[in-house]
Amino acid sequence: MKILVVNCGSSSLKYQLIDMDGEIVLAKGLVERIGIKGSKLTHRPAGKEKVEIDEFIPDHKTGIKMVLDALVDKKHGVINSMSEISAVGHRVLHGGDKYTKSVLITPDVLNAVKVCAALAPLHNPASLIGINACRALMPNIPMTIVFDTAFHQTMPDYAYMYALPYELYEKYNIRRYGFHGTSHRYVSNEAAKMLNRPYDKLKIITCHLGNGSSVAAVSNGKCVDTSMGLTPLEGLVMGTRCGDIDPAIIPYLVTNLGISVEEVNKIIYKKSGFLGLSGISSDSRDLEAAAEKGNKRALLTLNVFYYGVKKYIGAYAAAMNGVDVLVFTAGIGENSSHARECICERMDYLGIKIDKEKNKIKGKAVDISSADSKVKVLVIPTNEELLIARDTKKIVENL
Ligand code: ADP
Repeated sequence: MKILVVNCGSSSLKYQLIDMDGEIVLAKGLVERIGIKGSKLTHRPAGKEKVEIDEFIPDHKTGIKMVLDALVDKKHGVINSMSEISAVGHRVLHGGDKYTKSVLITPDVLNAVKVCAALAPLHNPASLIGINACRALMPNIPMTIVFDTAFHQTMPDYAYMYALPYELYEKYNIRRYGFHGTSHRYVSNEAAKMLNRPYDKLKIITCHLGNGSSVAAVSNGKCVDTSMGLTPLEGLVMGTRCGDIDPAIIPYLVTNLGISVEEVNKIIYKKSGFLGLSGISSDSRDLEAAAEKGNKRALLTLNVFYYGVKKYIGAYAAAMNGVDVLVFTAGIGENSSHARECICERMDYLGIKIDKEKNKIKGKAVDISSADSKVKVLVIPTNEELLIARDTKKIVENL
């Protein structure tokens, strides 16, 4: 069974075609700058040269048509005809509190994605455009949605409620939802497999540290807390997002500095985090290089980030009454030995100790805990696309 996984942004579209017999990626790629000057498709067929097609791509439907053409192309294609694609799995950011699992697309589901757009105005409308474009081009192929929020829906009410007037929750659904759910679910499952221990008997803390970052507490196979909230702004310091701040800073900026709400949004989403605090870059690699050369603000920024991750690990160990496994994933978590070392430093009280030699790895699934560490510390590359494909396979097999 071959499954196409699609992840639509407002001006981009990532895809992977996965052969589920052996879970092999046949091709993957990216359509960038949809509707903007300089748009292009980069198609990477397995075992063949990558192809770049630079031409104006006015909308998502045109982009998806180009992807499908590339997949069946005589030269750089990987399948003979579209009929080989058994199903399409779409990643969607926000499913609200309605969806706890991946689902087959029906008119009701699409309507729910539309309703949730109020909570994810940048993401859900773009996903809908992508889904509708795919449905128009592949009308007879079953499609599913895997929500980024679904895994976190098992959180208890005391973990997801904000202490705001209750009506705001009742009327406007204002509560913690959490994101990166597909990644937290994938790596926590893989952790149990790696350790050969039952998933539903472990206390796992998963640290997804990338451009966007979040931590999740997974107790006995269920998410019980996570650091992102109503939106993906809350929690850790990120590339350009501020993470946790005193909410009173926002009215302070509006009232005392005369800044508009739009400008405040720009500050907290685009001009804060690594970029804002360091004044150098939103990329942790640049900060590590600058800090090594003695740049004080780069060092401060990294320390603020590491300290934040440490605090969440401590909090989630408290929430779960202990921790058996700590997992690092995503760009920083998988690749930065320095980040992992600094985060795990002075955590022996919690039973967390890493082996500096083992910690030198990049981008591989490895147990980096020291022999006397009570907590297993693992690096596990995330693979959201594979989990989307697995969920999709399960759903369509039961149709
Ligand atoms: P996204 O959230 O966009 O998917 P990624 O998971 O790709 O982000 O993570 C991007 C972050 O990972 C960047 O801050 C980048 O610096 C960091 N990163 C990627 N590769 C490395 C590496 N080899 N060493 C250190 N950091 C890395």
